[in-house]
Amino acid sequence: AKEIGKRQIVVFDQEMKKAVAEKAEIQNNLRKAIVNEEFILHYQPQVDPYTGRVLGLEALIRWQKDDTLIPPNKFIGIAEETGLIVPIGDWVLKRACAFLKRMHDMGHHELTMAVNISALQLQEEEFVENVLQVLQENGLEPNRLELEITETMLIEFLDKKIHNVLNSLKENRIKISLDDFGLGYSSLNYIKQLPISTLKVDKSFIDDIHDAQDCKNLTGMIVTLAHQLGLKVVAEGVERPEQKEYLMRYKCDAIQGYLMSKPLPEEQVIDLLKGHLQS
Ligand code: C2E
Ligand code: CA
Ligand code: CA
Ligand code: CA
Repeated sequence: AKEIGKRQIVVFDQEMKKAVAEKAEIQNNLRKAIVNEEFILHYQPQVDPYTGRVLGLEALIRWQKDDTLIPPNKFIGIAEETGLIVPIGDWVLKRACAFLKRMHDMGHHELTMAVNISALQLQEEEFVENVLQVLQENGLEPNRLELEITETMLIEFLDKKIHNVLNSLKENRIKISLDDFGLGYSSLNYIKQLPISTLKVDKSFIDDIHDAQDCKNLTGMIVTLAHQLGLKVVAEGVERPEQKEYLMRYKCDAIQGYLMSKPLPEEQVIDLLKGHLQS
């Protein structure tokens, strides 16, 4: 038994070393990726389900490495662990705002931009000033920008300092939305005290909607309660018409998902929006 134990430790140790080496390599490559500008953004439309109009876009990062497009789930976690999310997040904000400016100049004046933010970025001393500067450089109204932060991460990191940052963003008319809402189990009573404007209901709740009349689903209740608290509701991961019908029944404000469009590169967003100016 002693021998087996030893062998297990050896195997475990080798696997640990391999995992550590792999992580170090991704970390190294991430650093290079920042310098070499290997990141790109795709944008997913947020749509008004009642009119079909595109209300806003969500910027979603991808890593263009050699010939492959690496999805964010493969590197955002490591970027967060190593703090590299801060310079990467800076780049995302700048790039997304520059694209929004371009869209405004093309006539889409009302369009909003949602950008995913890590709690680590909120902890940066100059975060608010930095965001305001990017907006100013692009001549954008602050209320056209919406910062998305996940419910779980916000609750985990929330302290007096971050609360002040959120208040300061709100005072400056920058919107905050609570992403992946429902996964963090926070009560709406608690949410009520936060200076946020939008709840993004997590896809897992939308997945559970099986027909438009579904009365066992929680989403409708979340939408109703959120509205009572004066919050806007966006549903993510809408894939089927019956989910859209259900969400419309509960007066959900905006929907996002493959049913309307997957995330698109800049030029395809421009094409998609072309039809919008005539109306
Ligand atoms: P998220 O913010 O919850 O973004 C939604 C994800 O669901 C996106 O995956 C999107 O492509 C995908 N999606 C949208 N509609 C549908 C649908 O109808 N069906 C299905 N199956 N999926 C759908 P993506 O682009 O791979 O991003 C994954 C996560 O990576 C994001 O989840 C977000 O948490 C994170 N992320 C992306 N970009 C950034 C960024 O710039 N900064 C930070 N900190 N995180 C980011
Ligand atoms: Ca998001
Ligand atoms: Ca989300
Ligand atoms: Ca989600």
